Amino acid sequence: MSMTKDQILVFVDNFADKMHEHKQELTEFDQHIGDGDHGINMDRGMSAVEEKKPGFEDKSIADILKAVGMTLVSTVGGASGPLYGTAFMKAGGAVKGAEELTEQQIADIFDAMIGGIQLRGKAVEGEKTMLDAIMPARDAYKAAIEAGDDIAAALKKADEAAWNGVDYTKTIKATKGRASYLGERSIGFQDPGATSVSYMIDAMTEAAGGAPGESEAADTVGLVIVSHSPKIAQGVVDLALEMAPDARIAATGGLPDGSIGTDLGSIREAIDAVMGPAGVIMLVDLGSAVMSSEMAIELSDYPELIKIVDAPLVEGALFAAVEASVGSDIKRISEVLARSKTEPKF
Ligand code: ADP
Ligand code: MG
Repeated sequence: MSMTKDQILVFVDNFADKMHEHKQELTEFDQHIGDGDHGINMDRGMSAVEEKKPGFEDKSIADILKAVGMTLVSTVGGASGPLYGTAFMKAGGAVKGAEELTEQQIADIFDAMIGGIQLRGKAVEGEKTMLDAIMPARDAYKAAIEAGDDIAAALKKADEAAWNGVDYTKTIKATKGRASYLGERSIGFQDPGATSVSYMIDAMTEAAGGAPGESEAADTVGLVIVSHSPKIAQGVVDLALEMAPDARIAATGGLPDGSIGTDLGSIREAIDAVMGPAGVIMLVDLGSAVMSSEMAIELSDYPELIKIVDAPLVEGALFAAVEASVGSDIKRISEVLARSKTEPKF
């Protein structure tokens, strides 16, 4: 298996989408331990990349990565501009002439990105920076390909390692970047740069897995978690993936400006992201989320394949994720969820 240029373009798109979607959240993390601009910086940079994307079609993979890097350096502002910019430029340099990327070339990209970040930022692992996500991701990726995994499976492991790295950043004190001014007081907060890097690896993993409906995993029921709060939706998904890492599950919550509510457009995107032949189950937090979800179903190309199930969000998501990942169909999952509604907690 290899990664094609089209998949690299999808990766860039996915990364831009994620920076836009999580702009508010990344900025909040940076408010705790920095100057509150990381989400704004990254969204500005990746939006500029998206504007240049029509010119990427004729470029090689190496030149696309370099162009992303150059655009980020000149538009991001903040420390993350030169850090991400150098990472992408070095990544391009590492795969010169490649028409498709092999397992090893993706490992080379990880190495090159880390090299670029260290060249600019002079940090090492454990200083509460983006390195604490990308370095364990690189190690997990390499271990996986050495054990015989293909790119998609190895990236999935890299992605998990990156998010574990994000959790680890909560426990340590910053010794590089603005957050280091806070010293001990930076403990307890997750690093914004490590978080955006993990979204970048999410974007790469999704691009490698192929479009929804193309991968084998798409034979299982997809799950969509709709909350009024983006944090709750994402938290529920994280928890469910902890129990069932293979589940195909999407979070959607909040309005486009990051405030509390449910947004038809984002619900539709979440459905599309996990739609497959086995259909989609939706779990919603409050009554009014049902209305937006029903509309999203009506507007979908496959309304008959989507079902909103009345179940508690957290327990429902956990049960549904486990059932879906072992191949249960919508009917079976709905039955299990109906029980989760009445079963006492203790
Ligand atoms: P700024 O800190 O200039 O406001 P951003 O807020 O965009 O820039 O980015 C902050 C992120 O940059 C941090 O969360 C951290 O992950 C990363 N970072 C800062 N300094 C370094 C460094 N020296 N090496 C690696 N990453 C760094
Ligand atoms: Mg900042």
